[in-house]
Amino acid sequence: MFSKILIANRGEIALRVLRACRELGIKTVAVHSTADEDAMHVRLADEAVCIGPPAARDSYLNVAAILSAATITGAEAIHPGYGFLSENADFAETVEAHGLTFIGPTAEHIRMMGDKITAKTTMEALGVPLVPGSDGELKSLDEARTVAAQVGYPVLIKATAGGGGRGMKVAHDASEIEEAWSVARTEARTAFGNDAVYLEKYLDKPRHIELQILGDNYSNVVHFGERDCSLQRRHQKLLEEAGSPAITAEQRDAIGKTVTDALSKMGYRNAGTLEFLYQDGQFCFIEMNTRLQVEHPVTEMVCDVDLVREQIRIAAGEKLGYTQSDVTFSGHAIECRINAEDPDTFAPCPGTVAVYHAPGGLGVRIDSALYTGYKVPPYYDSMIAKVIVHAPTRAEAIARMHRALDEFVVEGIKTVIPLHRRILADPEFQKGDYTIHWLEQFTARPH
Ligand code: ADP
Repeated sequence: MFSKILIANRGEIALRVLRACRELGIKTVAVHSTADEDAMHVRLADEAVCIGPPAARDSYLNVAAILSAATITGAEAIHPGYGFLSENADFAETVEAHGLTFIGPTAEHIRMMGDKITAKTTMEALGVPLVPGSDGELKSLDEARTVAAQVGYPVLIKATAGGGGRGMKVAHDASEIEEAWSVARTEARTAFGNDAVYLEKYLDKPRHIELQILGDNYSNVVHFGERDCSLQRRHQKLLEEAGSPAITAEQRDAIGKTVTDALSKMGYRNAGTLEFLYQDGQFCFIEMNTRLQVEHPVTEMVCDVDLVREQIRIAAGEKLGYTQSDVTFSGHAIECRINAEDPDTFAPCPGTVAVYHAPGGLGVRIDSALYTGYKVPPYYDSMIAKVIVHAPTRAEAIARMHRALDEFVVEGIKTVIPLHRRILADPEFQKGDYTIHWLEQFTARPH
């Protein structure tokens, strides 16, 4: 086992990793920008190294500074968290080239899955079902027209290098295909420096359902069931649940087996998530994330597993401590992402937290790096806390989340807590009756 790990991240996820290290008896090194000198992950770590100015490209994305920090402190492994360098294959490769362990999959697998066309063709060859669409990259506008006519409008033109919902354009009919093609390509070139695009049928009422998996270095792969992440705004998730209100235990077992067989054949190691759109009883793979996800706690609650601890153990060369039959599901979990944003306009709202009081009690978990007096910096993601509840049934989990949000005090900045309250009180949400389009329509309604 490692004796010291560097955590190449900030905020709640840096704390999350730190907590797992503590429980394993591993020393931690925090890295931080000058804007994060007073951050909780810096205060709680055994050692901390400043790696640059506030802008992420000069600090949390600064590979040379992070590697120097690891070398100076004698860290043996690096946990990248999510975002920043977590899905950067070059970073994973450089870490290993310096004789350190990257806590994650191989650089090769990160690279494969980072290119969505390669990810789709790889998964298809391994027997995973896809959204109907083009066979790889679209070579021309003419090809886009032909494939769109075959799969039927509406269609989506997507960037192979896309992420965060960028580089994606819908064409509702043939008159819109030319524009969708050129806008998606331009956006992809500008944002990702790669204008390769592909086409998918645009599903009109899907749910976003993803599967959590863990693999070790010995081709053992298990899944930890699904998360329903359909509640999204501008392709950003806001509230997640495990399990999905829409699928049965038999469906979970079936898709789980497809996925674990595929990843075991690939020799995939460490944590990963396969994202699917689910409509009319069909799962269609859209992409794979080769890292820990923001919403991993809902899975931890229903499976009673510490995913970060498992990531660290696997990276240290230990065998997966589970077979599929050891993984059981109990109760229901919900996560609300608390963003420092205006709950109506979604304008970011950085500033000083005048009063902070976190909820508690049975079945309530708060993953946050906030404290009274903390100054939320304007430079990074606006998510400041995750409230996770676990209860025997979905209805009890909803009631518990209501109660937890009522107790939550964050003064001095605006947060999306009022929006979460309205969602939880909505009859359609309570019935579990929603698709990926539901939240956008909900937030557009007068209230
Ligand atoms: P990104 O990497 O940018 O997040 P994804 O491929 O994961 O891109 O898609 C993000 C979101 O866009 C999905 O969660 C879903 O809401 C929507 N989406 C993606 N593909 C389709 C599709 N074929 N039909 C309808 N919606 C889609």
